[in-house]
Amino acid sequence: MSIFVLVEHRQGEIRDITFEMLSKCKEISKDINVKTTAVLLGNDVEQFLDPLKGYADTIVCCRDEKLEYFNSRTYQMVLSHLINENKPLLTLIGHTSYGIDLAPGLAIKLQIPLATDCADFSVEDDQLRIVRQMYGGKVNARATLKKAESYLITIRPASFEAKEPETKDSEVINLESSLKEEPIDKRFIKYVEPEVSDVDITASDILVSIGRGIKEDKNIPIIEELTTALGGVISCSRPIVDKGWLDKGRQVGTSGKTVKPKLYLALGISGAFQHIAGMKDSDLVIAINKDANAPIFGVADFGIVDDLFKVVPELSQKIKEMKGA
Ligand SMILES: Cc1cc2nc3c(=O)[nH]c(=O)nc-3n(C[C@H](O)[C@H](O)[C@H](O)COP(=O)(O)OP(=O)(O)OC[C@H]3O[C@@H](n4cnc5c(N)ncnc54)[C@H](O)[C@@H]3O)c2cc1C
Repeated sequence: MSIFVLVEHRQGEIRDITFEMLSKCKEISKDINVKTTAVLLGNDVEQFLDPLKGYADTIVCCRDEKLEYFNSRTYQMVLSHLINENKPLLTLIGHTSYGIDLAPGLAIKLQIPLATDCADFSVEDDQLRIVRQMYGGKVNARATLKKAESYLITIRPASFEAKEPETKDSEVINLESSLKEEPIDKRFIKYVEPEVSDVDITASDILVSIGRGIKEDKNIPIIEELTTALGGVISCSRPIVDKGWLDKGRQVGTSGKTVKPKLYLALGISGAFQHIAGMKDSDLVIAINKDANAPIFGVADFGIVDDLFKVVPELSQKIKEMKGA
């Protein structure tokens, strides 16, 4: 039995989701007899081989200048050919902007079942069981897919831990590209870097991160006081950027930045998976939230279930006292 994992890379870097999916496959291969194949599409793919070695039994490479940049149409053409030829039981694709664009069309082309945004999966008696989250991560829904020859699923980022492989053993197979021509309806035009921010939140050891619980931008000075007392930097969840209260460079998450500070203070942030994916590797996470069931407490080392407007001023005061200010 084989599982295909699509390698996601952008601007010369393999995205974390790839190693997360491959590590999960390695884990399940201890219980069931399964061989993992990392499917690497691109042009200058040589650079990605070494980091991938050991994560999969086989790395299948398909080099083509038409695959230099991600395009769901070209990826669909190559992958459908590869999946049809090899019939893996399962193909895993990240539930990222790439995967969301690619997976539905690919499943339709192949006429195979698709489950999106899965937080976990298992294979029992050649049948696929998946876990998806509902209600902002408060409920886990389990489903068993109808028996099929091959399945396709997209995996939510940060659902699995990426673990360093014990060996660097992987067989590398080079395949000839099956791409004949470039699609005419969808072309890569240019890669646009996001705006550069005035601060680099990835460089700070202490991040005080705010979410919609802050209610109004006029409340930000309360947070600034705490941030100054701690000697940190303010970061935020996406709605704060969408409202224009802080700039995009301060956003943590899948469509923002990935941060790993020594201390991550989450204030009025619910902990949607898109946010958690960007901060889960922080050394110490402390969350303050009124809702004891908020998913952020699932990744917090310490949690305070209370009104942030009550806790934050007291915390600022205490820290100032401790620092003798
Ligand atoms: C494609 C896509 C990409 C995305 N990318 C990102 C991303 O990169 N980063 C990101 O953050 N989000 C991202 N999102 C949005 C994400 O799904 C959530 O909507 C968002 O993270 C929620 O932000 P929040 O926690 O600030 O707000 P909410 O989910 O509204 O949570 C507010 C929290 O504040 C608490 N609260 C309210 N008042 C108080 C109070 N007085 N004291 C204490 N607690 C209080 C509430 O209990 C609640 O838990 C993305 C969404 C999509 C679809």
